[in-house]
Amino acid sequence: MTDWQGKHVTVAGLGVSGVPAAKVLHGLGAKVTVVNDGDDARAREQAAELQALGVTVRLGDGATLPEGTELIVTAPGWKPDKPLFAAADEAGVPVWGDVELAWRLRKPDAAPWLAVTGTNGKTTTVQMLASILKAAGLRTAAVGNIGVSLLDAVLGEEQYDVLAVELSSYQLHWAPSLRAHSAAVLNLAPDHLDWHGSMEAYAADKGRIYEGNRVACVYNVADKATEDLVREADVEEGCRAIGFTLGTPGPSQLGVVEGILVDRAFVENRHKNAQELAEVTDVNPPAPHNIANALAAAALARAFGVPASAVRDGLRAFTPDAHRIAHVADVDGVAYVDDSKATNTHATEASLAAYASIVWIAGGLAKGATFDELVAGAAKRLRGAVLIGRDRALIREALARHAPEVPVVDLDRTDTGAMLQAVQEARRLARPGDTVLLAPACASMDMFANYNKRGDAFAQAVRELGA
Ligand code: ADP
Repeated sequence: MTDWQGKHVTVAGLGVSGVPAAKVLHGLGAKVTVVNDGDDARAREQAAELQALGVTVRLGDGATLPEGTELIVTAPGWKPDKPLFAAADEAGVPVWGDVELAWRLRKPDAAPWLAVTGTNGKTTTVQMLASILKAAGLRTAAVGNIGVSLLDAVLGEEQYDVLAVELSSYQLHWAPSLRAHSAAVLNLAPDHLDWHGSMEAYAADKGRIYEGNRVACVYNVADKATEDLVREADVEEGCRAIGFTLGTPGPSQLGVVEGILVDRAFVENRHKNAQELAEVTDVNPPAPHNIANALAAAALARAFGVPASAVRDGLRAFTPDAHRIAHVADVDGVAYVDDSKATNTHATEASLAAYASIVWIAGGLAKGATFDELVAGAAKRLRGAVLIGRDRALIREALARHAPEVPVVDLDRTDTGAMLQAVQEARRLARPGDTVLLAPACASMDMFANYNKRGDAFAQAVRELGA
């Protein structure tokens, strides 16, 4: 569909993807109707902006397919079982997501995409990748859920040599024709299953990222499900499967040998066993899961032809986003670390694995998760635990079952002062050399507007301790 003039396009959902999509399609000459479930103040404001341009907007009715619709462009979060999509299916109307739209609208000489998905680590990996590509002198940007929007990246004035693209499982679900240069699935753990319907469906949507890859499909050797997805994918001839591992790399793998990140997959000199990429200490922070992210980023960059030296320079130049294992301060020989972004058990497992002796601050909205495995795995490293938030009893019970010796402080308050008390209690439990780690394993919305605010409250409380 290259001629947009007069095409009837329905955009499903306002918001961060719908508004720009509607504007772009309207600009191309399409007849755009936006349908939106809600009609709150924010929606009305966005609707007014679009209506002023001549776009039709229907608020409070996201279920009915507008007459004459030839294409739906949906917000990625819209669930596939919505009545609008059943109606589209019946009428033979295709459905694209925001990523599919960007992919179809890209210019003929557009930059290739190096794509990243996974349950955890996407943002970090894409930012590391962009940093490595920049260190190699390439014009690039981290795009997707972060930084520059995809539509801006493919349609804007700025010229890129290559894009580092973060993709969620929702976006992949709605992106049937996307073909990346190379792609990585970092890991797969149960998440968003209410949306996808099952773990199989979730994995299949993640696996879409490998379809049609030209050069490399990057997988996690420690997570067999990611390798299975590579095997099932239909890729271009010559496309290689490249593994990353925290151990010694096998053939076609990147890994770690004696504190050095090494590459056996892309060695120029086949007689050499491996090529040095960087030191583990070049990765910030050098926690195991983050070294895995660095290896995945390195594999994608190397697949694009980036030299080994740029991997080291790019990793050294990288600083993680806020609230992702961020070292806040040392007070009385105890380190205080903010991993507020650990909103599920898989992420929390990774951050608990990074420290030897921990006072753990956890709790919030559990989103249906269970905590037995997480707590059993970390029990030996816990000096103590301070629990906050609505669903803290679930964690308390798991601690009682798997770590009965660990002292637990259960804070029965959700007001704004609760974090300060949590940090004070943690300080009381900690011994010099310990780490007080905010890694809640839960969402934050019972007590805070979002995980950023929760992390800010933690950092503020730590500053008050030190004052
Ligand atoms: P995403 O964009 O997938 O949400 P982020 O890079 O923002 O990922 O990290 C989210 C959380 O997951 C952080 O708390 C971080 O500590 C944790 N994390 C990052 N990388 C990994 C990984 N490879 N495996 C498990 N957890 C991870």
